[in-house]
Amino acid sequence: VAHPPAAPRAAHALGVLTDSHGRTIRDLRLSITDRCNFRCVYCMDPGAEFLPPSERLTPVELERLARLAASMGVERIRLTGGEPALHPRLIEIIERIASIQGVQVAMTTNGSRASARAVSEWKRAGLTRLTFSLDSLSPERFTSMSRSNADPHAVIDAVRGAIDAGLSPVKINAVIVRCFNEEEIVPLAGLARTLAVEVRFIEFMPLDAGRRWRRDLMVPASEILERISRFVPLVPFGRRTEHDTAERYGFADAAPGSIGIIASVTRPFCGACSRLRITADGKVRPCLFSEREWGLMPLLRDGADDADLRRFLVDATWTKQPGHGISSDEFAPPPRAMYSIGG
Ligand code: SAM
Ligand code: SF4
Repeated sequence: VAHPPAAPRAAHALGVLTDSHGRTIRDLRLSITDRCNFRCVYCMDPGAEFLPPSERLTPVELERLARLAASMGVERIRLTGGEPALHPRLIEIIERIASIQGVQVAMTTNGSRASARAVSEWKRAGLTRLTFSLDSLSPERFTSMSRSNADPHAVIDAVRGAIDAGLSPVKINAVIVRCFNEEEIVPLAGLARTLAVEVRFIEFMPLDAGRRWRRDLMVPASEILERISRFVPLVPFGRRTEHDTAERYGFADAAPGSIGIIASVTRPFCGACSRLRITADGKVRPCLFSEREWGLMPLLRDGADDADLRRFLVDATWTKQPGHGISSDEFAPPPRAMYSIGG
């Protein structure tokens, strides 16, 4: 079904995007492409096939959707993918979205295209916050996880470049997968201290294209925290906001930097979720794990007016499920993998 069922009239009257469990959407994740030059083991398969460009939302369509979302209470928009930095019109996309009043533009990148010059251009175009993904400091482990020939030290240089360019905050995400990079937890925590940034450890979620996720491949938050605490004691800082995905910790010795723990599997935070996702091919996904998604493309390309699109977004949001249910016996991973949803 492409069109979501109609939400109650009261939901439409609110003028914001709310779901049937009382949550309001403030964060939009916009995937601008499903293409990527990495093949991370927890995300994409080596043989991945990508959308033809004509099936991707154009910069004008992305701006239109972002503007509508902002007019309905969305405050933060994160560009993601796939690898957003591969998009040939990235600067134009950032400029268009940054021109919307009241919206902060963020992006998540694997850092492979984040030269000092590129990062300054992104900043000039209106990007404010930048998150890098970096799962290992060891070149061998980095290669086996990302299945690319990129150099982790180039990503570290890119993080420095982003800080120097004035992007703020700059963060690093690391997905920890058993037998791949659990030995990287302590070196990555050390990197948070030397770079004075937040390094966020993410529990591996069942969103890999190869469907190899098993609970015992996931390194739980408790173990990540224990390993770091043996290296340096931590002090809990709590979440930055009630909707934040990361629990934050500082270093007891007052060193700079911080640790974030995104415990999506063992300590789900679905009850406070404020996020909505739109995929590169224009599917509204109320949850990472949604079984149902709602296709905007026919409406967008068939001359729908803003009122039609607003109605569609309210109806789609209303279908947001209460939680991801990874721990339930009935759980089935969604048909799309992370790169084609937009993390
Ligand atoms: N290509 C960019 C990057 O890697 O930063 C942006 C897109 S990527 C899908 C966004 C985030 O999702 C990354 O930080 C990545 O580590 C995370 N991710 C991908 N697959 C995941 C999984 N199965 N479990 C947890 N996080 C995952
Ligand atoms: Fe590409 Fe990001 Fe997925 Fe890695 S996590 S394959 S960099 S989209």
